[in-house]
Amino acid sequence: KTTNDTAAHGGDVRLTGITKKYGSFTAVHPLDLTVPQGSFFALLGASGCGKTTTLRMIAGLEEPTAGTVHLGDQDVTALPPYKRPVNTVFQSYALFPHLDIFENVAFGLRRRGIKSVKKQVEEMLELVQLGEQARKKPHQLSGGQQQRVAVARALINHPKVLLLDEPLGALDLKLRRQMQLELKRIQTEVGITFVHVTHDQEEAMTMADTVAVMNAGRVEQLGSPADLYENPRTTFVANFLGTSNFIEAEVDSTSGSEIVLKAGGGKLMLPEARNSAPARTGGKVLLGVRPEKISLTHADDAGDIPEGRNRITGRIADSSFIGVSTQYVIDSPVCPEFEVYVQNIDRDPRLTPGAEVVLHWNPEHTFGLDAAQD
Ligand code: ATP
Repeated sequence: KTTNDTAAHGGDVRLTGITKKYGSFTAVHPLDLTVPQGSFFALLGASGCGKTTTLRMIAGLEEPTAGTVHLGDQDVTALPPYKRPVNTVFQSYALFPHLDIFENVAFGLRRRGIKSVKKQVEEMLELVQLGEQARKKPHQLSGGQQQRVAVARALINHPKVLLLDEPLGALDLKLRRQMQLELKRIQTEVGITFVHVTHDQEEAMTMADTVAVMNAGRVEQLGSPADLYENPRTTFVANFLGTSNFIEAEVDSTSGSEIVLKAGGGKLMLPEARNSAPARTGGKVLLGVRPEKISLTHADDAGDIPEGRNRITGRIADSSFIGVSTQYVIDSPVCPEFEVYVQNIDRDPRLTPGAEVVLHWNPEHTFGLDAAQD
């Protein structure tokens, strides 16, 4: 009975109250999470946040302290790893050094007693674009190629879910980027669920449909890369995915779809839809705005700024040319170190340290956070 018993079950992963404690230390707090079948899902977070432990509980390599793991409609919580329809690719891909690439990939089939492996192995090698390398030994391949062998080896038994634990961690930056796109292509082609663990925000955003940002054993926010970037709900998420400026503001009034805020003597607009904080008149809101959303105008030209934009006055404290854009640090009464990135094509030569400026942006590019968080 080799065609697996789970063929009838889907490849979605459902964690219910899954928890991991080591003694009195809680590595993963009760976690509810559903990864839809066929999606590319990333668990993103800094070292120690519990992402690997979560992945290992899905794999069955770590026993949860509480909670259940479902794959499709099957409760696999009590099943050992080899009975789960999942496979894992690790950072240390540990290929068998004495076997050639073909035999490395064939290994999982042979272990199950399957004799005619040629067609399946060749298909798998095609998938990872290593058809020409079948008779080489692992040490004759580059790091990226070896990692692709590890992926082929993990996919040969047709798991419902592929788990990837920092699989690109050992590669240099350029190869990492290539492999990110390559893994994304492979996932689209095979169509199964990928759950990918990484501490690299760019990697998670490049590859995943959905990202769960983890912090101290909890999922802090879950969403598409664009949603997390544009609508972070905590300062942790805002800072983990890029850079953000924060302004502490007071709610002046709310009128329908707009919240009017006071900060440093001026007024700033925050669309209701972009706010995740309680907005009571007189209450505090933390206003976030990404550095690349801000325009910088010399104070002498302030009259040219269109109506309806949020504006803050300040003085350029520092500027650095970073190729495609210039990064400015602005002193202003509402945010001591405002960061602004201006595309060099739009750069005004008067924008040098000491210049008085107006920062302005479309209110739609603001997000409101709970100032009382953390
Ligand atoms: P990294 O990227 O460094 O692997 P991570 O986010 O994957 O980090 P985990 O490996 O899941 O984090 O670990 C979460 C926390 O649990 C860490 O603080 C870690 O020290 C702790 N931990 C992990 N394994 C054990 C263990 N066997 N015994 C005790 N504590 C552990």
